[in-house]
Amino acid sequence: MKKALITGITGQDGAYLANLLLEKGYKVYGLLARRSTNTLWRLDYLGIIKDVELIEGDMTDLSSLIRAIKISQPKEVYNLAAQSFVGTSWDQPLLTAQVTGLGVANILEAIRLTDPSIRFYQASTSEMFGLIQEEKQSETTPFYPRSPYGVAKLYGHWLTVNYRESFNMHASSGILFNHESPLRGIEFVTRKVTDGVARIKLGVEKELRLGNIDAKRDWGFAGDYVEAMWLMLQQETPDDYVIATGRTTTVRDMCKIAFEYVGLNYEDYVVIDPKFYRPAEVDVLLGNPTKAMQKLGWKPKTTLEELITMMVDADLERVRKEVNA
Ligand code: NDP
Ligand code: GDP
Repeated sequence: MKKALITGITGQDGAYLANLLLEKGYKVYGLLARRSTNTLWRLDYLGIIKDVELIEGDMTDLSSLIRAIKISQPKEVYNLAAQSFVGTSWDQPLLTAQVTGLGVANILEAIRLTDPSIRFYQASTSEMFGLIQEEKQSETTPFYPRSPYGVAKLYGHWLTVNYRESFNMHASSGILFNHESPLRGIEFVTRKVTDGVARIKLGVEKELRLGNIDAKRDWGFAGDYVEAMWLMLQQETPDDYVIATGRTTTVRDMCKIAFEYVGLNYEDYVVIDPKFYRPAEVDVLLGNPTKAMQKLGWKPKTTLEELITMMVDADLERVRKEVNA
């Protein structure tokens, strides 16, 4: 049985990837960071808690990563763990550097020291393009990160490339554009909006406070994107791939879709609050996934409309339960 270790298994992508690998017959191990509260709600939502084996460890503790690899003896390691929220990265830049940046050095070293034949996936991001240098961003577009998060991810990205070139490791980097789902963290704008819409619709809230709604993102569905991660590690040679839909939409229009779905007008409820403006903004992201489509045979399956309505439905159900509890 093929074995895989996922760091960040309790996050959005970790849960979907674990589910995908289980469906493919893998034995799935996950790194579990010690927290004082329960972080297993996403694995619970997908009904797979009992099917995965969790090993305690932290991205900032090399010894724990070596231990996790020795216990799991994986053929594939997916490094999804990160301080992943851009907004927080200005308030906690050093933690972001330690976890999101140096954490990649730790896991790569853990692999190199135990079994360098392990295939490695690094969760890179479109935030590395930041102040975009080309209208449509591809694998050859120069990077220009705009947040401590983007800077930390760029270090992880280049270190992955470097370990591939230095030690001949099967290390691939997926440059994923924003991807969302009912399991997205509530601090991210899509989920904040779908949760807000559900609360307003059910009479729990009266308004939704947002920042820069003119920002544009290339949003896809996380369930589609984890397939691309797996495909990258099945290739004979490691490489870097942009994963995106090739369509960009403003936060404003995404709100419109969400509110209209429940019969409301977003203009009646959205309040602009400068508290949510960022010190430096990424105004627009738009990916060109041609290479992934041609080489991996990957393509996005879910439209933004399908994604947002799926998220609103899930949040309506959650808020209803909360209200009735
Ligand atoms: P989440 O924020 O949902 O999940 C992050 C995961 O990292 C959680 O499991 C979290 O554990 C874990 N983690 C955080 N700090 C540590 C630590 N010190 N040691 C061990 N684990 C830790 O992120 P997503 O699932 O959305 O994203 C997955 C990866 O892909 C991330 O690296 C993200 O930066 C990157 N990415 C995401 C994109 C997106 O649109 N979703 C776009 C491009 C890249 P806990 O639950 O205990 O906090
Ligand atoms: P990011 O692309 O990784 O930063 O993902 P987010 O979902 O956090 O933000 C996407 C865009 O939405 C950014 O340009 C934000 O400035 C913008 N945005 C506008 N209002 C908000 C808000 O209230 N919360 C968040 N998280 N983002 C917002």
